[in-house]
Formats: sequence, structure tokens, C-alpha cells
Amino acid sequence: MDLPIIYHPDYVAPLPEGHRFPMPKFRHLYELLLADGVAYPEQFHTPERPPSDWIGLVHTPEYVQAYCAGTLDAKAQRRIGLPWSPTLVNRTCTAVGGTILTAQLALSQGLACNTAGGTHHAFPGYGSGFCIFNDLAIAARVLQQMDLVHKVLIVDLDVHQGDGTAFIFQNDPSVFTFSMHCEVNFPGTKQKSDLDVPLPVGMEDDAYLQTLAQYLPDLLSDFQPDLVLYDAGVDPHAGDRLGKLALTDSGIFCREMQVLSTCVAGGYPVGCVIGGGYADELNSLVYRHSLLHRAANEIYCQYRL
Ligand SMILES: [Zn+2]
Repeated sequence: MDLPIIYHPDYVAPLPEGHRFPMPKFRHLYELLLADGVAYPEQFHTPERPPSDWIGLVHTPEYVQAYCAGTLDAKAQRRIGLPWSPTLVNRTCTAVGGTILTAQLALSQGLACNTAGGTHHAFPGYGSGFCIFNDLAIAARVLQQMDLVHKVLIVDLDVHQGDGTAFIFQNDPSVFTFSMHCEVNFPGTKQKSDLDVPLPVGMEDDAYLQTLAQYLPDLLSDFQPDLVLYDAGVDPHAGDRLGKLALTDSGIFCREMQVLSTCVAGGYPVGCVIGGGYADELNSLVYRHSLLHRAANEIYCQYRL
């Protein structure tokens, strides 16, 4: 068996022409993985929409109901930043199902990668910053509820703080939230993760990778999670519109190799989501996201998972 990769054609929902969220990237990522021979068709797993009570393990019934029915007020809708449509509701739920499936496959096969996910700005009662439901938090809670895991470590390397995830688990010692992000960036009001590592504007590859190496190995051996959920946002890249850090493609690839090899070598299963990435040039952006799957393939073979 090879590295499980999770994708659904419904990961893409139409947005108005010129919308700043790069929605087509999910399908392009799937196509690039196939075209470059990173993955073959049988390697892909197709998720299902999760039952709404799974989403309810994290989100309030009022919010889930109002979002799905399209009755959120205009202010709550603006905070999300994506215009509501029934296809976007389906996309949102399917992507959550994708991260749950990714986590399950990570447990059974040691490593698995979604081609979407990482909606870490979603809070229990509202969405924010292109994030509607918090897939990482839902996946952690669903697997706990199924008694498949007890302790989950969330490693969030998206350039923006994982504020929703931090808030959701602030009083839950069974889920450890680690966020390494650019200090002066969205969200304006930060929450308190179990470990926050704020980075200065303009940080480059070497300093970034050294900082990560200072924290991750100790975190794993201290907390000893049953599962790691990894948000591999590529918005720390120098070419990102919203990032403010200065990583290169090779820096991102080294980061993925570092995270995955550190976890897998220690025997910790890792479920990966692609997180944020914003660039005007779609091909470069999609390539950046594919570095996760390229690195995961190498690690999967290297450790004979
Ligand atoms: Zn981000």
C-alpha cells in the first residue's frame, strides 16, 4: 500500500469571478499530483459528508443550523469572507469529512494527506477568515469519541495563528495546540494555544527550520500523542500575498520533511491538511502545496509504512 491521499471533486465550489480566495487550487493540486506522478489514481480516498452531530462535537447547534440553512446574519457572513451558497455548504462539510478520513487513515497507515483542510480560524459559534467549520478540531473530537485516540497534538505551521483551534481546546488537556505563526498578521486578536511561537516578519528558511527544531521533538516526547494533526499551510512562503514571512520552495519542502520524519521516526501517526496559501499565480501556489505530498511520499517509503 502507498501513502493515502484524500480528495473529493466537491472540494471546489464556485465563487464569484475574481474572488480573492483561490478556490480552484484544490482541483489543480489533485491534477498536479497525478500529472507529476507523485500519486496514482488508486492512491486517492474519497470522503463522505460527516453527520451533523459530528460537527456538533465542536460547533454550537445554532451556528451549524444557521450556516447550513443560509440564515446567518450579514455580519457573521462577512466575517467568513466567502459568499454563501448550497454548493459551498456541501464543500465545507465534505472537506471536514476529508480531514476526518485523513486522521483515520493516518492511524491505520501511519501517514495520510488531505488535499484540503486546515480551517483553523473557525470558532464554536462563528466562522472567520475563510474558515467555516474547524476540521482539525472536529477530526480530533470524532476520533476521541470513537475511542481511537486519547491524546492529539495539533501542529499548526500556517503563517496565521490557529486561533479557533486554540480557543476550542483551551481547557482540554487531551488536545495540545502548537501554533508557529507570524506575530504581526491576522488574526488581530490572538488566542492562547498550549504553545505559541510567534515569528518576526521576514524570517527566512534557516531561522524558521531551526526554530521548529527547537520545539517539535520535545513536544512529541513530552506529550506523547496518539495522533498528530499537521496543518501545513504554505502561506509562510515569500511569494504569499498574506504571509509576511520569507520561506522558499526548498524551505517549505525541508519543513515538511522535518515535521514528518520527526513524527514518524518517533512512531507518531500524522494526518496532514494543506492549510492556507494565497498567490496570484495559481501554478506556483499549487506546486507549493504539493510539496507536502511529495515529502510525505518520501517519508512513507523511507519508513516502509
Ligand atoms: Zn493562513
